[in-house]
Amino acid sequence: MHHPGNLFVVAAPSGSGKSSLVNALLEVDAGVAPSISHTTRAPRGQEKDGREYFFIDDQAFDAKVAAGDFLEWALVHGNRYGTSRQAIEARMRSGGDVVLEIDWQGALQIQKLFPDAILVFVLPPSWDELRARLLRRGEDAPEVIELRLANAREELAQAQYFDFVIINEIFERALFDLKAIVHAQRLKYIAQKSARTDTFQALGIA
Ligand code: GDP
Ligand code: ADP
Ligand code: 5GP
Repeated sequence: MHHPGNLFVVAAPSGSGKSSLVNALLEVDAGVAPSISHTTRAPRGQEKDGREYFFIDDQAFDAKVAAGDFLEWALVHGNRYGTSRQAIEARMRSGGDVVLEIDWQGALQIQKLFPDAILVFVLPPSWDELRARLLRRGEDAPEVIELRLANAREELAQAQYFDFVIINEIFERALFDLKAIVHAQRLKYIAQKSARTDTFQALGIA
């Protein structure tokens, strides 16, 4: 029996360290693949089309919505972001894990579509540190940072609907927690039976 891959959804207020954590996970775990979202936001300094996001204009975004290309999409800090249906469904069918780095509205939409999705919320250790990280990252204009901080209050209130919470204070510790969540899913009976069929058969429990 074939077990589909896990779908991990990571959400957090901007500046919590969500991208840093997911990128660090992807570097050490080849079994997880990212989903690259489409967005109407302008690229930041080092961002490359097709790497962090597919950067598209409003018209192209409308067309993709109309064509049903998105599993979910949401308006976040004044820009639209969407998750492509095609790449994710193919990857999950093949048995590989996928991680989505999306906002809480998208996360809850995904949970409705895929009740087995694993929802992870990343918290910053404090308001002061969240602001400090957004300033230190230095990628957003001051008014954009203020907007993101203002929106963070509502975002934080959504953590209660998630399966897991990671507090990103010490980065290595938070990464360890994220790896633990991913690893635990692979130890579930149904996943082990699919991944280690030979062992189950040899033991006579297949
Ligand atoms: P803890 O003893 O309260 O930290 O309990 P845990 O079950 O969370 O940690 C189990 C083991 O993992 C302990 O040996 C921890 O020191 C270690 N550990 C926890 N966080 C990290 C981390 O961020 N990086 C590494 N390399 N090890 C960690
Ligand atoms: P997000 O994707 O949630 O917006 P980023 O991953 O871009 O957040 O992180 C925001 C900033 O905080 C970055 O400059 C990053 O290097 C830094 N950062 C992330 N995690 C930590 C941490 N545990 N301690 C200190 N700085 C961190
Ligand atoms: P940023 O502009 O900082 O890259 O992202 C802003 C917010 O949009 C973050 O909360 C991020 O998780 C979210 N986001 C990125 N891609 C998607 C997506 O495809 N769908 C949804 N719903 N949110 C997304």
